[in-house]
Amino acid sequence: MDQRISHWVDGRTRPGTSGRTSPVFNPAVGEVAAEVDLASAAEVDDAVRSAKQAAVAWRSTSLSKRASILFEFRQQLSSRADELASVITAEHGKVHSDALGEIARGLENVEFAAGVPQLLKGGFSEQAATDVDVYDIRQPLGVVAGITPFNFPAMVPLWMCANAIACGNAFILKPSEKDPSASLLLADMWQKAGLPDGVFTVLHGDREAVDALLEHPDVAAISFVGSTPVARHIYETGTARGKRVQALGGAKNHALVLPDADVDLAADAIVGAAYGSAGERCMALSVTVAVGDVADRLVEAIAVRLPKLVIGDGAAPGIDMGPLITGEHRDRVAGYVDAGSGAGATVVVDGREADLPERGFFLGATLLDHVTPEMTVYTDEIFGPVLDVVRVDTFDEGLELINSNPYANGTAIFTRDGGAARRFQFEVEVGMVGINVPVPVPVAYYSFGGWKASLFGDTHMYGPEGINFYTRGKVVTSRWPDPASSQVELGFPTNR
Ligand code: NAD
Repeated sequence: MDQRISHWVDGRTRPGTSGRTSPVFNPAVGEVAAEVDLASAAEVDDAVRSAKQAAVAWRSTSLSKRASILFEFRQQLSSRADELASVITAEHGKVHSDALGEIARGLENVEFAAGVPQLLKGGFSEQAATDVDVYDIRQPLGVVAGITPFNFPAMVPLWMCANAIACGNAFILKPSEKDPSASLLLADMWQKAGLPDGVFTVLHGDREAVDALLEHPDVAAISFVGSTPVARHIYETGTARGKRVQALGGAKNHALVLPDADVDLAADAIVGAAYGSAGERCMALSVTVAVGDVADRLVEAIAVRLPKLVIGDGAAPGIDMGPLITGEHRDRVAGYVDAGSGAGATVVVDGREADLPERGFFLGATLLDHVTPEMTVYTDEIFGPVLDVVRVDTFDEGLELINSNPYANGTAIFTRDGGAARRFQFEVEVGMVGINVPVPVPVAYYSFGGWKASLFGDTHMYGPEGINFYTRGKVVTSRWPDPASSQVELGFPTNR
């Protein structure tokens, strides 16, 4: 191991000065591949100062110039997608095609943000009163920060930075210290796209850097994606300091499978959504709620698919599932197999017995049947390749189960019955709903967000809500009187 991963400030690499670093693993071989610098509060302060300076000129940059930089950045992302995907796979472990998938979903956000001249258009009311016009404008906040999780090291930063920068802000990214390199490639692409230095900053770090961002008076807004306990901490601390905060948390996403569903279609969709990226997705389906007599058929259909999943180094061709992010996390997830069986669940497929590479943080796909709501395999966000099946007798019982869960990020229903699907969409208390679609991540021109413990704050991420989050409104009331009708008015203007 000889690689050092440093910050990106003012358009160049800035080696850390805190003396603190954290190991970055190649999870496919289970070895440390690099050390990443962890920023101190003083380094955060320095970076915020340069971002603040850059923000002044950037907000004055014309909309057409900003749009052209976003177009160029899109070009960089698209032409260097393979390079970026390789960096993601090397540190995260997900298979190369999946890494390309996250880049494609992130790129959508850049395309959306490139429409910034249209997105920032305000309203105009001519002659609201005699000689009076009223109009609104949306202005950037200044310096905004994004704190992102390990599981989407390119897509989640792109959810945030594309809109934030398009709106005229300077953006500071504090990526996960577990897979920090993708953020530096994004920085290089922004620079090559012509973004002025200081408008995009990367500060690596852990809680110390995050808390320094939360405390910093010149950071106007924080976007966070990660686990629920940290999301709550970010939201409570940031808002107490007067910042705008959107903090997306963890998940326990349920699929409701009705007796009339096409079982093969549902099984294919559920296997992809439960085990893709080794289950380390906030929109992974981790609970299947099987209604009535579909349960036996569905469990069988899922179980026969699992031994066919090829597990190995995500950089190699033909691999379906890569390793988990760390050895510690793999052991924690594996522990849920015993926890489930000890609590009375049936272990239909035990991922520990899969054909696994000898080195690396691998775990096979696990299927637990007859799971009940009080078991820890049900209550905890496992964040690994473990799927629970809960059996219920009716649609209503399944809906009630989903609505009682504290998490409410995504959910999906599998059915051929349009009326049942529509009722589900109407009554389910979850932020993102799929109808025969297992991973209903909204396209970039809608916004992404869960409900309840899956999101703290009132703004969803990206799309129209992202534009609102990264700008503040100003309303101008202007009078240009006709000189001929000028007169003194002492009363409060009623504008009539
Ligand atoms: P995490 O909460 O451990 O870390 C997220 C970020 O917070 C990282 O940048 C990390 O450095 C920082 N952080 C960690 N502990 C902190 C602390 N005590 N104080 C301040 N900052 C801290 O999450 P993770 O393990 O990187 O990612 C997995 C989690 O993210 C899962 O819970 C998953 O559901 C969630 N997630 C949610 C969404 C969503 O859209 N809702 C999307 C992706 C991931």
